Amino acid sequence: MKPFVYMPLPTRILFGRGRIGEAGNEAKRLGMMRPMVIATAQQAESAEALAQEIGGIAYAKAVMHTPVDVTEKAVAFAADRGIDGLISLGGGSSTGLGKAIALRTDLPQLAIPTSYAGSEMTNILGETDNGLKTTRRDPKIQPETVIYDPDLLATLPDRFAATSGLNAIAHAVEALYAADGNPIVSLMAEEGIRALSHALPEGRNGHDEALYGAWLCGAVLGSAAMALHHKLCHVLGGTFNLPHAETHAIVLPHATAYNAAAAPEAMARIARALGAGEAASGLHDLARRIGAPLALKDIGMPEDGLDRAADIAVSSPYPNPRPLDRAAIRHLLDNAWHGRAPLAT
Ligand code: NAD
Repeated sequence: MKPFVYMPLPTRILFGRGRIGEAGNEAKRLGMMRPMVIATAQQAESAEALAQEIGGIAYAKAVMHTPVDVTEKAVAFAADRGIDGLISLGGGSSTGLGKAIALRTDLPQLAIPTSYAGSEMTNILGETDNGLKTTRRDPKIQPETVIYDPDLLATLPDRFAATSGLNAIAHAVEALYAADGNPIVSLMAEEGIRALSHALPEGRNGHDEALYGAWLCGAVLGSAAMALHHKLCHVLGGTFNLPHAETHAIVLPHATAYNAAAAPEAMARIARALGAGEAASGLHDLARRIGAPLALKDIGMPEDGLDRAADIAVSSPYPNPRPLDRAAIRHLLDNAWHGRAPLAT
């Protein structure tokens, strides 16, 4: 067995239907007397309702990819209003804004995720400035408490449930071949893929199991270094402003195929978790079955941007099972743009 380091991240987790009802007590436990309830404009009503219930102030201005100028305005708002804690209610965009404020203010955070993105379990923040998305890790970024309440998924649109679920699976796929992976991370990753691939086709009946899987996938994202797949999605999201979950859903089978020959053990575990004969085609089949988009051209990626995306993806070194080969990555992007079946090129 390879030597390893395992350092679990210290987040308190409350899981179960109806547990959003404990948000007020949990906020007090964290010392919040005047919390800011952060959401996107689409979830403003839910944020307002929660803020009223627990005596907080709603702030529904989160947007995708955490632009720095949006964060600066939110930090100024928090200072103006005497905010002493952050409650993010929503998908990764709301969690991201909460984390970005916490990084700058060290305020405590309670995250209440309503998608499968997994950001609530990590000390990672991705921010966009001038069209470039950069990520950093810091203990201040990690939420102190997470409430997972499957009831909050009732309003999740079906297509977003599918792509967000694949976004979560992507964390587990890369954790299984991470340079700094370890046996615990691999157990959680395999179980996360199993739970999500079983639950996502069940639609609304699968919300409990899917959220459980998303928690595991978020936990491994926080504990292991991500590779080519996440790098490509950051480039496509940050530079071309593509929707995060859909981009992950489309790129995942292709990035998996790229790494297949270099990470046979991880591929066997992914295939086993999916109940498929092979990892990359199993992911492609799952995406098709649950109605996820399959082609970058269908979510707004310009074809003439593929060269730039490939250039940025190889411009800085990061660990990946297979060495970064610009021509092969360009080919991968071409397959993903057209929505072809994944190929190991
Ligand atoms: P999102 O948070 O932007 O959500 C997409 C839309 O769906 C939003 O309008 C949101 O309000 C809405 N929505 C979310 N849950 C809903 C629900 N239950 N019912 C109705 N509407 C709902 O998208 P996302 O994919 O969850 O998150 C993407 C963002 O998260 C990106 O910026 C990404 O970089 C970031 N992210 C960060 C990490 C990390 O560890 N730093 C991990 C994963 C994702």
